[in-house]
Amino acid sequence: MNQKPFLISGPCSAETEQQTLDTARSLRLLNPDYFRAGIWKPRTRPGEFEGAGKEGLKWLNKVQSEVGLKVATEVAKPEHVEAALNAGIDMLWIGARTTTNPFSVQELAESLTGVDIPIMVKNPVNPDLKLWIGAIERMKKCNVRSISAIHRGFSVYEKTRFRNNPNWQIPIDLKHEMPDLQLICDPSHIGGRTAILFEIAQKAMDLKFDGLMLETHISPKEAWTDAKQQITAAELIELLQNLKIRNHQEIEEAEIIGFRSLLTELDDSIIQLLHERMKVSATIGNYKKEHNLAVLQSSQWEESLRKNVNKAMIAELSEEFSTTLFKLIHQESIHIQSTILNSVNHHEND
Ligand code: PEP
Ligand code: MN
Repeated sequence: MNQKPFLISGPCSAETEQQTLDTARSLRLLNPDYFRAGIWKPRTRPGEFEGAGKEGLKWLNKVQSEVGLKVATEVAKPEHVEAALNAGIDMLWIGARTTTNPFSVQELAESLTGVDIPIMVKNPVNPDLKLWIGAIERMKKCNVRSISAIHRGFSVYEKTRFRNNPNWQIPIDLKHEMPDLQLICDPSHIGGRTAILFEIAQKAMDLKFDGLMLETHISPKEAWTDAKQQITAAELIELLQNLKIRNHQEIEEAEIIGFRSLLTELDDSIIQLLHERMKVSATIGNYKKEHNLAVLQSSQWEESLRKNVNKAMIAELSEEFSTTLFKLIHQESIHIQSTILNSVNHHEND
């Protein structure tokens, strides 16, 4: 690791005073920019540990005074904001479940009007960039001075290797829309398990994220929440040491520029091939029109999709990518043919 990224670390939840302070002390050497700990925990189902509540604010104050770290916690209601601001918490974040609800976000934004401590907005649980942007805009409208975004992945129903699918394109698009926004990645909630934290953190660095939020616990196996994804301070140090923060300038080197022009040529060929392909689709469309045939012949389409995906996979393209690609091509073909079939046939009207 050539330089340390902006770092927020600490337990998922402040469970007891002892566990909070022990975890903070274990991080002292690493000296993260902020110590995190949830005291109001949004649990998906009732009956689980819902956080220490206001009592936990006192423990965070001890982390400030006894360990010397700045502290951050999650707020979900205006009363949380009020209590946290009164306690002198240094930074607050809006959780993923809260970001999904514009009413809650608006209430929170109003309770934060004009604050100058940093506020971080986690992405909503569903992959909706506009909802994420909307929450940030609501904060801006209430004159919150320092806002950053945390990418913590998106829920999917299917079981995947991630707890929350990263959908990297979404934070990239967010950065494109709001280039000045500080973007932080939360590999703990994306990964959901320790084995893949490094890989996610490295990817975030390669995508030029500004910082990382990683959950640490004095004794991860015994954590009351998110036990599978928390690591010790020592494990976090090792993770950070292995992290490569690449120099983004080096991409301009001659060798890479050569490959870039090769990519441009290949992209041109792809465009040309698609153009040829759509011309053939149009010819078939004209034929269907003449013979009064329907656009979609589904058995034939399913068979050709299956064959194409198999061929693509032999060529080392992923199943997901090739399926999406051929479905898109097919969609465009259908569009072209429907336009032809529905066009007014002038000579018939003459
Ligand atoms: C958390 O940070 O512990 C948390 C509850 O996160 P999220 O809102 O991303 O689920
Ligand atoms: Mn957590």
